[in-house]
Amino acid sequence: MNILLLGSGGREHALAWKMAASPLTDRLFCAPGNAGIAQEAECVAIDIADHAAVIAFCKANGIDLVVVGPEAPLCAGIVDDLEAVAIKTFGPSKAAARLEGSKGFTKDLCRANGIPTAAYERFHEAKPALAYLRARGAPIVVKADGLAAGKGVVVAQSLAEAEAALEMMFGGGLGEAGGAVVIEEFLDGEEASFFALCDGTTAIPLTTAQDHKRVFDGDRGPNTGGMGAYSPAPNIDAAMSARIMREIITPTLEAMQAMGAPYQGVLYAGLMITTQGPKLIEYNARFGDPETQVLMLRLMSDLVPALVAAREGQLKAFDLRWYAEPALTVVMAAKGYPGAYTRGSVIEGLDAASAVEGVQIFHAGTKAEAGQILANGGRVLNVSAIGKTVREAQARAYQAVSLIRWPEGFCRHDIGWRAIERET
Ligand code: AMP
Repeated sequence: MNILLLGSGGREHALAWKMAASPLTDRLFCAPGNAGIAQEAECVAIDIADHAAVIAFCKANGIDLVVVGPEAPLCAGIVDDLEAVAIKTFGPSKAAARLEGSKGFTKDLCRANGIPTAAYERFHEAKPALAYLRARGAPIVVKADGLAAGKGVVVAQSLAEAEAALEMMFGGGLGEAGGAVVIEEFLDGEEASFFALCDGTTAIPLTTAQDHKRVFDGDRGPNTGGMGAYSPAPNIDAAMSARIMREIITPTLEAMQAMGAPYQGVLYAGLMITTQGPKLIEYNARFGDPETQVLMLRLMSDLVPALVAAREGQLKAFDLRWYAEPALTVVMAAKGYPGAYTRGSVIEGLDAASAVEGVQIFHAGTKAEAGQILANGGRVLNVSAIGKTVREAQARAYQAVSLIRWPEGFCRHDIGWRAIERET
């Protein structure tokens, strides 16, 4: 098969690494890719927001399958546009990607189908929203309806904080994404990410992960796209997994099918495991980043037939196998991230770091120039490792980090602390 992967981050490097290893893969392309992906795939400089350009490339290169990494093209309807010209594509349609693209859509779907989630109301105007806030009190959570690149959620500990968030969103601080707002109950518990592969009618569980969103050690500082992750999530055992499938994933799939928007692709559920059971915080319509980096290290089976089976509606009899060993990834970011940072600093020592046992380094934001690897983003490298325990995976990842010479970069030093505490 000739496969085209869309995206340029660590998630796409991990997917490319796994797909390149498949005996089914003939040629693997990635648009636009990065310096790490270029070791696994032929990178092509196409603007993936230009659907006509993507279609033209697929036709000229006999592409048999397109795999979409990030959410923006999904919500922009790239799957619909490619499928309309008979190019097979892995990922949800625009209508199905509303599970990520509109928080209000997902909340209403949960309410209509008895799917456990935080109590909420949707608002299109500030005044009734403010009245609701004041009636409920803090802690409370204010969310912009649309895609806001991780900036659309404010978990407010005080009413003043919640009011400021509301003012910012309705004031246009997040553009169109904040035109509508969801206000919801604060959920207490431990979070986990749950991934399912869906073919429209059948969902099969992938595995689970936990991530660290805050930028500094001890889970302090501003939120980021994710500073590290590990898999599996220690708070989801087989019984909890079955319950999540039964109470959350399966009814969602049925509801999407009933409304004529069957969901195909990866369904990524952000969950709060509360004393009353699992509750849905949000859906994402694609693989997680950086969770995919640890998922791919743990996936024993070939990924390509799984993606094809999802696209073809043939997951019913499909089985995926996973290594039992945990995996962990440490994100190395450019100093200043998630605020302002500079690009173009030189990264050295990657070969020695990659040689550490169990380690795989995925590139999240790099480019190659004159034989050097340069930082080219906020999150730059995902130093990932598998081990017999989370502690061992963590030790391997940090040993690799110590061999990377990049003074302009930084990372957290406690990724996996909660899981390691449980192990000991
Ligand atoms: P989201 O973008 O919806 O995943 O929200 C980002 C983060 O905000 C989540 O990972 C949670 O840590 C937190 N969060 C979102 N909704 C709630 C909620 N209802 N209660 C507590 N924390 C929440």
